[in-house]
Amino acid sequence: MRKPFIAGNWKMFKNVTEARQLVSELVPELAPFTSVERVLCPPFTSLLAVRALLEGTGIGLGAQNLHWEESGAYTGEIAPYMLSEFCQYVIIGHSERRAYFGETDETVNKKVKAALSHDLIPIVCVGETLVENEAGETAQVVKRQVESGLAGVTLSDWSKLVVAYEPVWAIGTGKAATADGANQVVGEYIRPILANTLGINAASLIRILYGGSVKGSNAGEFFSKSDIDGALVGGASLKAGDFTQIVQAAG
Ligand code: PEP
Repeated sequence: MRKPFIAGNWKMFKNVTEARQLVSELVPELAPFTSVERVLCPPFTSLLAVRALLEGTGIGLGAQNLHWEESGAYTGEIAPYMLSEFCQYVIIGHSERRAYFGETDETVNKKVKAALSHDLIPIVCVGETLVENEAGETAQVVKRQVESGLAGVTLSDWSKLVVAYEPVWAIGTGKAATADGANQVVGEYIRPILANTLGINAASLIRILYGGSVKGSNAGEFFSKSDIDGALVGGASLKAGDFTQIVQAAG
């Protein structure tokens, strides 16, 4: 019922030359896996170049952030309508943005609404820190992040909203969550919270990804779990072979 979804978050890696090189390797490798929604999220500076190479491939393009205002005097920011000219997706509330750039549940909520009003599919990131995890606060943290981040959001097609469960302690550390542990957070906390706040129909259609040190060798185990619909991939999205293995595991 929910189409598997794999997105590569390139973070602050790859200039235009490097981006073109990676995409030219990825396009033929990812071509067979049409049963998987495949999305690349390069830095802003490479979006235009990557879009040209993705034309007609069925591979989607996403940004890593946006501003919630329509336009205005916000030096250094990018408005939703600027992205919707060439992107279909946008990552919102990544833990690195929450930790280093002051992003809060409230700004996440504004950004989600702004993205949706410009037909961008938000990939909304939630997840607990190591301290919160060790204090047994995972359930309450993801509840707050999901409820506040998605407050007042309405959609006619809930497949156009994606949530990524990314425990902060697993991102870029090489220490992935266990597949059972991630599936428990997604299936016992996040999906029921979506059902309570947005309704059962929404909860059954919203793809929920796992993110945090996913690689070719562990991806299949995550995707075999009933509530995990794909992955948000950081480090392993920067090499064509590694990313392709993950997409293949979801196909
Ligand atoms: C991410 O950046 O969203 C991420 C999950 O990174 P990594 O795969 O490197 O842990």
